Amino acid sequence: MQFLKRIKDRILGKIPRGMKRSSKWPEVRKKHLEKFPKCAACGSTKDLQVHHCVLFSDDPSLELDPSNLITLCTSKKDGFNCHRLIGHCNQWTQPNVDVRKDAHDWYEKLLFARMASESERAEKRYKR
Ligand SMILES: [Zn+2]
Ligand SMILES: [Zn+2]
Repeated sequence: MQFLKRIKDRILGKIPRGMKRSSKWPEVRKKHLEKFPKCAACGSTKDLQVHHCVLFSDDPSLELDPSNLITLCTSKKDGFNCHRLIGHCNQWTQPNVDVRKDAHDWYEKLLFARMASESERAEKRYKR
């Protein structure tokens, strides 16, 4: 699958740990979810998480920057964990540097797949 290969090709390194999260994070997170209450990849409204496009461990100064945040989920509604796969190239310690584009592409693909299966069902109904 081209899409997955593209994600894999973009994997970057480095894993610093032990940094402290800001006390303002819960509020920033809540505000972000009010503004973007849907998973950017699959559209789910369940099990939402706020992902940092530039990981906290890579640049803590972007922790509270709204432009660095994107809503992703762990609901596995479509059989995979959006946060882990789209946000982290399937490895929690890795960032996906093109997370916004990949989430958008994936969202459109899923939308198209749903529309296709719906029109298939409708067609079957008419044929009866
Ligand atoms: Zn999702
Ligand atoms: Zn994340």
